[in-house]
Amino acid sequence: MGQQGYDPVELADVVARAVVRGEARRYYRFRCDRWYGGIATADVVGCNLRCGFCWAWRYTWANYERAGSFYSADEVCERLVRMARRRGLEQVRVSGGEPTIGFDHLVKLMECVTSSGLHFVLETNGVLIGAREDYARRLAGFRGASIEVRVSIKGTSPEEFHMLTKARPEAWRLQLRALELLVAEGLKPGDEVYPAVMLSFTDERGVKRIKRLLASIHPALASSLDPEYVILYKHVEKLMSMTGLKPRKAFRPHEVPDELV
Ligand code: SF4
Repeated sequence: MGQQGYDPVELADVVARAVVRGEARRYYRFRCDRWYGGIATADVVGCNLRCGFCWAWRYTWANYERAGSFYSADEVCERLVRMARRRGLEQVRVSGGEPTIGFDHLVKLMECVTSSGLHFVLETNGVLIGAREDYARRLAGFRGASIEVRVSIKGTSPEEFHMLTKARPEAWRLQLRALELLVAEGLKPGDEVYPAVMLSFTDERGVKRIKRLLASIHPALASSLDPEYVILYKHVEKLMSMTGLKPRKAFRPHEVPDELV
């Protein structure tokens, strides 16, 4: 990695070689949890960013060549639907690492989940959607089919993005570009597509800056901003002690306010 940082679009191709096999993708966990009011979740292995606060860093970037097992989209769909039905949940999500690595797998999974009548939440850092215009077009093909794309932006500026991820600062704009493209392709802003922003490492000026930028794409993106803060799990604290990141605001796992769950 050069002084200016790695290119997360190029890194996605490197990671894909280890976590995508044909139409199958590596996953490390299936679970039901409290977020979104209760949701069945599949966690993918591998990411194209290297966030110094990542809650899943042992699977997203430290050990992605070996972690987890390969599953086809049908196998993941079947597990998620079964888990959701058993617990009386109406929504499922893919999270963990970056689900847009292995995009054909993702689209097939979304087709299967939405045809089962469940709501699908895609959590993404947005970099590949911003870099590859056909991704936004294919995701927009699901408009009206009970989906939401949550683009989780790392930091409020290119400099903050670089500090958090060690990636090239310019790549931060790809996350905003993802929102632009998804809205332009017809996903409803503030509903089918909305931003989350990691705010643990910024100040009031940073919050104002990102809100202004989001509003310039569409006012509903600024008003639907979902704030993200670091949760101080032991393995996250260990990572931050290695990467030297010091959050201004963070929560212990049992102290996360209800409005953030
Ligand atoms: S984008 Fe998300 S999954 Fe990827 S390294 Fe950052 S926090 Fe972890």
